[in-house]
Amino acid sequence: MSRRVYSAAEIAPHAVVAIGEAEGHHLLHVLRVRAGDDVVLFDGRGGEFHGRVAGVSRREVEVEVGERLSVEREAPHEITLAAPLPKGDRTRWLVEKAVELGVTRLVPLATARTEGAGKGGEKLDRYVIEASKQCGRNRLMEITPMHSWQEWLALTPPPSQGGAGGGSAEPASHRIVAHPSGDPLDRLERRPSAPSFLAVGPEGGFTDEEIVAARAAGWQVVGLGPRILRIETAAVALVVAATL
Ligand code: SAH
Repeated sequence: MSRRVYSAAEIAPHAVVAIGEAEGHHLLHVLRVRAGDDVVLFDGRGGEFHGRVAGVSRREVEVEVGERLSVEREAPHEITLAAPLPKGDRTRWLVEKAVELGVTRLVPLATARTEGAGKGGEKLDRYVIEASKQCGRNRLMEITPMHSWQEWLALTPPPSQGGAGGGSAEPASHRIVAHPSGDPLDRLERRPSAPSFLAVGPEGGFTDEEIVAARAAGWQVVGLGPRILRIETAAVALVVAATL
C-alpha cells in the first residue's frame, strides 16, 4: 500500500503522466522518489494502476503508467453519513475516519441547533485524498453540499414497497439517527448487507421536533450508550455499529 499517488486527472493505462502540485511535492520531498521507483496510482474513479517513475524535475514527477488493476476496497453497500461538521481539526478527524470506515458519501448537516456550521470546501477534499492514500481506497468519498435536516428527511424517503424483498435487486436501505434517548443499540437493525443512511446531530443535540420528524419519516432512532459523545465520536460509533 506504500507510495500511493493520487491524480485528479483521469488516468489511462500505458500513458505517461506528470504529477505536480501537492502530490508531486509529496513524492519529491517526502517520499523522495527516484527514476525507476514503483508507485501505485489512482484517480478516485475506481481501480488502481501500476506506475514507475520515469523522471523527476524540481516540481514534477513523470510516471509511466502500466496496467490497470480492478481493485476496490469499498463497503459492500453504500453508506451515506449526515453530520454537522464540527469545528477545526475535529472535522478533519471525522472526514478521515469516515473515509477509513468506507463511508460513500458525507452530507454536511444544518439543524436547528447547528451553530456556525462548516461548509466543507477544498480542504475537506484534500483530507479525503490523504485518507484514501493511506487506507487504500480507490474511490473518493463524496462530500455533498450542505442540507438542512428537514431537506435531508425529504430526500431519503423510505424504501418503496417493492424494495423490501419484492424482487428488487437492491435490498431495502436502513435509516438510523443517533440520539441519546433512542432505542438501545441491541435494537438496531444492523444490516451491513443493505445501503445505509446514518445521521448524527450537533453539539446542542437534535430538537424534539427534529426527532419526531425523523420518526415520522421512518428513521430508527438509536442510543449509543449512557455517555454523551462528540459529533465525530458518535458518527464513528454509528457507522461501526450499523455497517461493520
Ligand atoms: N446535548 C446533546 C448531545 C449532542 S452530542 C443531546 O443531549 O442530544 C452530538 C450528537 O452525537 C447527538 O445529536 C447524537 O446524534 C450523537 N450522540 C452523542 N452521544 C450519543 C449517545 N449517547 N447516544 C446516541 N447519540 C449520541
